[in-house]
Amino acid sequence: MEINENSIEAIVKQVLSEMTNNSSGESCNREKQIPKVSKAAMLTKLENYEIKEFPIPKIGDDDILVKVEGFLICGTDAHEFKRDPFGLIPLVLGHEGTGEIVKIGKNVKRDSAGKPLQEGDKVVTCMIFKDNPDITMFDLNKQNVGGADVYGLLPDDDIHLNGWFADYLVIRGGSTVFNVNGLDLDSRILIEPAAVLIHAVERAKSTGILRFNSRVLVQGCGPIGLLCIAILRTMGIENIAAVDGEQKRLDFSKELGAEKSVNFKNYKGIEALTEGVKEAFGGCLADFAFQCTGSPMAHSNIYKFIRNGGGLCELGFFINGGDATINPHFDICSKELTIVGSWVYTLRDYATTFDFLKRAKGIGLPLNKLITHRYPLSQINEAHRTNLKMEGLKIAIINAM
Ligand SMILES: [Zn+2]
Repeated sequence: MEINENSIEAIVKQVLSEMTNNSSGESCNREKQIPKVSKAAMLTKLENYEIKEFPIPKIGDDDILVKVEGFLICGTDAHEFKRDPFGLIPLVLGHEGTGEIVKIGKNVKRDSAGKPLQEGDKVVTCMIFKDNPDITMFDLNKQNVGGADVYGLLPDDDIHLNGWFADYLVIRGGSTVFNVNGLDLDSRILIEPAAVLIHAVERAKSTGILRFNSRVLVQGCGPIGLLCIAILRTMGIENIAAVDGEQKRLDFSKELGAEKSVNFKNYKGIEALTEGVKEAFGGCLADFAFQCTGSPMAHSNIYKFIRNGGGLCELGFFINGGDATINPHFDICSKELTIVGSWVYTLRDYATTFDFLKRAKGIGLPLNKLITHRYPLSQINEAHRTNLKMEGLKIAIINAM
């Protein structure tokens, strides 16, 4: 480009106008950066995302526009990708996401926990109670996500920006949203899966059997079991034994707080495996066990690893995985076992999850290593196929890549 007097004048004018814009406040600056359209990965048919562009709508007085920074692919997304069990195609998936508020309606002053909320804040979403907008996290003792809507599992509509698999998400009035400033990006995308375990541990504590000095067995070292171990460790529980068939995962379980690990592939038959568990606990059975796999056989087995008067939390069957065989006399009655089931979480568990993530970081648990793969949004199909191969743990899409 040839620089003459005219172009210098134009540059000076432009610089001056930018300076004036800057001095009129950050929000004006942010608003200027909001594009007219947002990319979104829409699942248009089974096993196929298309990156589409949708206009960013006008943000209403009760709404929030979030620039998505990253998200994780969940098992639920994998089910939807492969089979569409919820009959939602076409849709924009993604509920394990986080981002920054770039525009906020004038009526939105606080998040669902009562913290102030403004442009520039980092946020996550939880559930949408459209049939019961008065619900708050403080009167949610028992009600979990069943019966509520969730961003990333909403039917498509005129706005389209309904899930985190995108550059922007429109949070409608009445949704639950949390200010999570102070947590790094990896911690923020782990909030949703971690909340599942916070809930499970709360359920476990309700038995009165899970204490700081309990011998705790965690069966299954996928992301759910590994997060379970990390949460128990942040509670001060040290006597944790992990059970899995993959040595790599068992090794990682030790980094997250397991004291011992038992590879079931090294044992033939349930009696031998029970002996292996006993050995891990210095000759004793577990006081409490968490069942974190979706295998009916694993459910049948776990009773053998628990002592008389012990407790069990079953959380592995997020969806129907079939029937399991147990012996009610030996497994439950004569042992006087206390059993709780756990499914999803409540809003209340979210607040606890933020603290857990801070504590985990504080005591040096490498939770970020749960995220084994990172892709840009443009490679979402590839990311999803990696997820289906079950080679890694959690697969992330990071928009800043
Ligand atoms: Zn999830």
